[in-house]
Order: sequence, then C-alpha cells, then structure tokens
Amino acid sequence: MPERAVWPTIPTGATRVAGVIGDPIRHSLSPALHNAAYAALGLDWVYVAFPVPAGSGAEAVGAMRTLDLAGLSVTMPHKQAAASAVDRLSPTAARLGVVNTVSWAASPEGELVGDSTDGPGFIDSLRGDEGFDPAGCRAVVLGAGGAARSVTLALAEARAASVVVIGRNPAAAEACAEVAGPFASAAIPDDLSAAITAADLVVNATPVGMGPGDGLPFGMDPDWLASCRFVADLIYSPARTPLLIEARARHVAAANGLGMLIHQAARQIEMWTGRLAPLDTMSAAALAALGRPT
Ligand code: NAP
Repeated sequence: MPERAVWPTIPTGATRVAGVIGDPIRHSLSPALHNAAYAALGLDWVYVAFPVPAGSGAEAVGAMRTLDLAGLSVTMPHKQAAASAVDRLSPTAARLGVVNTVSWAASPEGELVGDSTDGPGFIDSLRGDEGFDPAGCRAVVLGAGGAARSVTLALAEARAASVVVIGRNPAAAEACAEVAGPFASAAIPDDLSAAITAADLVVNATPVGMGPGDGLPFGMDPDWLASCRFVADLIYSPARTPLLIEARARHVAAANGLGMLIHQAARQIEMWTGRLAPLDTMSAAALAALGRPT
C-alpha cells in the first residue's frame, strides 16, 4: 500500500481516499481520528466527510466502486441502506441489519462487505481502556435504539451472563433484546430499580445526559448504582454526564463513550489498511478535536 516519506504532504494521484457518509456529517470526529492514524502509520491515505442526504445512502455506497474508495464509514441516516447496498454482510451486521463499515473483500475481488464495529468497539474499550471484562456479568442497557442493539449483541457475544434492555417503547426493547438471543431480555422502566440494583454493568444508550438540563435516564435514583461494578455512558460530549458523575460519587468506576468511538474507528482502520491502529494517537486527536486536554 502507498506510504508517505513525510506526512503530511499534499495528496497526489496515488493517495488512497477513504471517508464517511452521513447527514449531518460536518461535526464528525471521524476525519480527525482516521487522518491522525494514517499520518502516524505513514500511509499516503486521506479520510474525508461526505454529506449524503437521506435516501442516497445506497447510491453513495455504490460510488465506492466508481471512485475506488479504500473504505467507507457509514453513519445516520444510512446504516440500513448501506446494509442492503453491499454484496455481503458480516455475521454481526447481518444480525443487526445495519452497517457502519464498508470494506473490499479479500476474495472474491471486487465485492463489498458490510460490517458493524460499534458493538465490538464498545467491548474493546471496556476491556482495553477500562480493564472491565463483561464475561459473566449481569448487564443493563438503557435505551433500545441503534447503539443499544449493537451493544446488546456485543455483550451477548462477549459472554455476559445476562443483558436486560430497558426501553420506554416495549416493542423496541423486545426487538433489541431479540437480536442477542437467549442472553438478553426486555424490561420496561417500571422494572428499573430491580434491574439496576442487581446489575454489574449499566450502559446508557439513550441521549439523556447530552442536554444542559438533563438528569439521569428514566429519572432513576442514583443510589441504585451503588452496587454496580461499572457504569458506561455512550455519550462522549459532554465528557461528564450526570450518570457518570453520580456513579463516581458512589465510587463506581465509569467511562464516557469516547473510547467506543475510538475503538470502532480503530477496527475500521485495521480492516482497511491491515495495520494495527495507533490508539494513543487517535485518542489525542479526538481530545484535541473536542478541545479537551490530552
Ligand atoms: P437512537 O437510535 O435514536 O436511539 C435512542 C434511544 O434512546 C431510543 O431507544 C429512544 O427511545 C431512547 N430515548 C431517547 N430519549 C429518551 C428519553 N428522554 N428517555 C428515555 N429514553 C429515551 O440513537 P442511537 O444512535 O442509538 O444513540 C444513542 C446514544 O448513543 C446517543 O447519545 C449517541 O450519541 C450515543 N452513541 C455513541 C456512540 C459512540 O461511539 N460513543 C455510537 C453510537 C451512539 P424512543 O425510540 O422511544 O425515542
């Protein structure tokens, strides 16, 4: 693969181009993460954000062939469209029905493969950054949207003893739990106290905590967290959500979603380039892009 003698240099005709499609996309941290990694690896690659409106996701995935893009990240609202536009799906993407990564197949040549690195990235972050192995743990996932589905499946694949999905929409919570098979079950917010006080790991997969006036998801009592071993919030901005603040106040280890974001990108980089992703460089780039101290 092409390498740069000195980086950054001005892209040439030999530069490989990768990117992300989404709408909105201009705020995305992915270009900062990927470009910092390519530079650290000395690769003559560049990663750009492509604003693609809803309804044009499949066409944009098809353009990967026309433009010979090296890889494509996919974010809202195109994750489902991308799943139907690729030639085949990884087992994880097939179970979820969504794709956040499009890569070229090793063989047969010319085939596009869709994968989903969000859930595995979450587990990598738990294990690698936080030293928490979810194997055997009783987990509660708050929320039943796309991120909750990815995390629920990943926790089941990481051999969590159980995963309880709590959603305000019972049908969505059931559907989310079904993705992970017999390891997961659904509950409604009325069951929150029993589920959380029995949990080792609590994961917030709702956006509650992003807004300035937000409290805890489902208005839960923070004292229920006291016997947890780990609390993970998938939100990464702000860095400290009310859930994380309350958990740490009770001496419960806790982390925001930045690690998941970095590790899902790291998996994409490793798939596309065949090189080990430089996690420290990516972390520094993410913190710099967010204006936080490194
Ligand atoms: P989504 O598909 O829209 O799902 C959001 C879920 O939260 C839905 O189940 C929704 O319920 C529920 N919800 C929304 N507002 C709620 C409230 N006030 N009370 C209780 N439940 C509420 O979004 P997503 O893509 O899964 O993202 C969820 C969160 O994860 C976001 O904060 C996102 O930034 C974060 N995330 C982080 C990463 C990362 O790499 N760190 C990756 C993906 C997502 P309804 O369906 O009833 O509205």
